[in-house]
Amino acid sequence: LLRSAAASTTKPYAPPSPYPSVPLQPHPHSLPVDGFVGAVGNTPLIRINSLSEETGCEILGKAEFMNPGGSVKDRAALGLVQWAEKTGRIKPGGTIVEGTAGNTGIGLAHVCRARGYKCVIYMPNTQSQEKIDLLRMLGAEVYPVPAVAFENPENYNHQARRHAERLDNAAWVNQFDNFEGNRAAHIHTTGPEIYAQTSSLPGGLQAFICSTGTGGTLAGVTRALKDLSGGKVQCWLADPPGSVLESWINRGKMERGGSSITEGIGQGRVTDNLAQDIALLDGALHVPDAKTIRMVYHLLDRDGLYVGASTALNVVAAKELAEKLGRGSRVVTILCDGAYRYQSRLFSKKWLESKNLLHEIPAELQKYVVL
Ligand code: PMP
Repeated sequence: LLRSAAASTTKPYAPPSPYPSVPLQPHPHSLPVDGFVGAVGNTPLIRINSLSEETGCEILGKAEFMNPGGSVKDRAALGLVQWAEKTGRIKPGGTIVEGTAGNTGIGLAHVCRARGYKCVIYMPNTQSQEKIDLLRMLGAEVYPVPAVAFENPENYNHQARRHAERLDNAAWVNQFDNFEGNRAAHIHTTGPEIYAQTSSLPGGLQAFICSTGTGGTLAGVTRALKDLSGGKVQCWLADPPGSVLESWINRGKMERGGSSITEGIGQGRVTDNLAQDIALLDGALHVPDAKTIRMVYHLLDRDGLYVGASTALNVVAAKELAEKLGRGSRVVTILCDGAYRYQSRLFSKKWLESKNLLHEIPAELQKYVVL
């Protein structure tokens, strides 16, 4: 069912585009790197000790919060700016315009400062204040707009496209459907890094799982791991409530319903990034918010990891997938960003109560609810 449902939406695989020249070779951190851009990628793989011990498996997280702009989206931001440069869409002194839940915008704002571009960001007004403030501190022009569906012309992505059309020397980089800028960055960097970091371990890598916003990370890593391992590594999607992808992959139906506390993930359609590789996926897991919020607090308390909700969701999914695959299996997921970007929500008693999640946090961990 997965393959037949997916086949109808996929385009034939095209070899990785030559556009993004995100460095192909891991750079040794013992040598200086070239500015902000040189510091993107080559993140460590962190063993989540508490869960590895609990399951008898190895649960590994790719520490994307260690990118210089603080999230996995630094890779896509760099790939997208390089795509705009290489395709001649932007010249020195130009403007990058994008619609984003925040992290791509933050990555773009950093790359734009480093490269001398202006940066204009449209985002849904449901996102955390921390991200809006940071974007403005990084010099971006920010437009929080009502959160409406993609089909609506007032959706933040369409507003970003129209803004770029009104300017000279400006590029809308279109992270959701621009697989030559976004997915390719992960084909060239994240995927090969994960393969290199696990292929010499005894038993190698059994599976990769992560959630999806644009689909760039999941599609790019899946393509790279399937190619490099000759199809041996299983690749799975993890999905929050309100997203249609888990039902699409598992049951061939797009069921929408509910909403989620997770920012930056969940999707109402098969984006072009995802369409490239969705037929390669081996399955999908749904993760409810109650499990996600408990994992935010668990990782802090037991592993000393201060992570955002999409990361916690990924780790829940990695643990469940490892248990499915059996003792001794090794599963990698993405640690997308830190909790710093959401702390006014995730650690606020009032906010947790408003989402009916305060009671999900075990009594002994309530001491971390400090706001
Ligand atoms: N987690 C967070 C916190 C994000 O901001 C994003 C990107 N929107 C993702 C995960 C998903 O990454 P991708 O866009 O590559 O699917």
